[in-house]
Amino acid sequence: MRVAMIGSGYVGLVSGACFADFGHEVACIDKDPAKIQALEAGRMPIFEPGLEDLVRRNVEQGRLSFATDLSDAVAAAEVVFIAVGTPSRRGDGHADLSYVHAAAREIARAISGYTVVVTKSTVPVGTGDEVERIIREERPDAAFAVVSNPEFLREGAAIDDFKRPDRIVVGAEDARAADVMRELYRPLYLNQAPVLVTSRRTAELTKYAANAFLATKITFINEIADLCEKVGANVQDVARGIGLDNRIGSKFLHAGPGYGGSCFPKDTLALVKTAQDADSPVRIVETVAAVNDQRKRAMGRKVIAACGGSVRGKRIALLGLTFKPNTDDMRDAPSIAIVTALQDAGAEVVACDPEGVEQAKKVLENVTYAPDAYACAEGADAVVIVTEWNAYRALDLSRLARLLKSPVMVDLRNVYRPEEVRAAGFTYASVGRV
Ligand code: NAD
Repeated sequence: MRVAMIGSGYVGLVSGACFADFGHEVACIDKDPAKIQALEAGRMPIFEPGLEDLVRRNVEQGRLSFATDLSDAVAAAEVVFIAVGTPSRRGDGHADLSYVHAAAREIARAISGYTVVVTKSTVPVGTGDEVERIIREERPDAAFAVVSNPEFLREGAAIDDFKRPDRIVVGAEDARAADVMRELYRPLYLNQAPVLVTSRRTAELTKYAANAFLATKITFINEIADLCEKVGANVQDVARGIGLDNRIGSKFLHAGPGYGGSCFPKDTLALVKTAQDADSPVRIVETVAAVNDQRKRAMGRKVIAACGGSVRGKRIALLGLTFKPNTDDMRDAPSIAIVTALQDAGAEVVACDPEGVEQAKKVLENVTYAPDAYACAEGADAVVIVTEWNAYRALDLSRLARLLKSPVMVDLRNVYRPEEVRAAGFTYASVGRV
């Protein structure tokens, strides 16, 4: 099948490359010429394990191409995906749909023959109706259907997630469009990925409900972690104790500095707004978003407490800046609030990250960057593990202790066992463990 992917960011590029790998002919479009130039030269605009190889292979085999203009690709395509950004709108937290609407207008002008237009971007309930209205207004003559096909991939494991999804959700209002989508995903039948066909509005809401539920799970265990610290319990054991219950499940029960990234913060907020507008508030999600926001800054206070109550004039070494490992994505990363809290309290911040430094420089000010954990720790008053990159999971703790001015470690990801860190001479604080 011929596919046009409008927007070649994390979701568009990964989905486009994977569809090409299934054997479809895919054109990835982006209005950012620098991104397209880089892709044409074989350079990835994002860090995602395995992506460069996947893209190269499919370009070489003639199934994947790139362009800044969508006209030819859309005219030739049976399926056109909208995979542009839907960030939080400034001021009110609603999803900003201006990119989606603009893409719909551009697509409308180029459509030829029966075309299924698919929103893969995470969009509020009713967006599909609006996309349909826009296309119909621009092109009353066009034969098309608008489908919702939310994406559930995780950055850092995006290719695997796309190729081995737990489920594929397709929100379609007509049978022909649903059949086109089944055909598109047919290569995944081998993996027995269930295709759940629902109404368009249901599919749109399913994505937000999924993210809100996962954000709730994380926030729940984070609050239990705080309680563990107060009452002398161990959150990892509590998480295991509840996670082994099949009704609960063990995933997303790792206590830490709060969720971040390009999805959970904006999607929880957007769901809260949609629900308020529909006069059906989701109070649990409202609380989750508020608790998580406060938590990120509270992690700064945790570091300050571990440093004896003040970091004024102290040098604090942060290991990891991205919101999770295996990505260079800094959007809404907890590190941003932690750095600000430490700097506000008078600390000097030095940091390292295997892939995120370039992006971090765009959002953090007055931070010194070091090439690795040991260089970062040299002469610092404390070391803080913010992101659990593999590079920080097996550090030579004695060497690290010797490099620090004072051996203080705050492990916000519970990467180490308290006894091993303390045995290496550290004063050690982690999350939900004493
Ligand atoms: P992104 O910012 O990385 O990429 C969006 C791209 O779209 C940009 O490169 C931008 O230049 C391009 N673009 C915008 N308007 C365009 C237009 N009219 N024509 C061509 N290109 C255009 O965003 P992302 O992280 O890939 O997210 C895209 C959507 O997918 C969002 O709605 C997001 O919520 C959702 N999503 C993201 C993830 C994730 O892990 N990043 C996972 C699931 C769903």
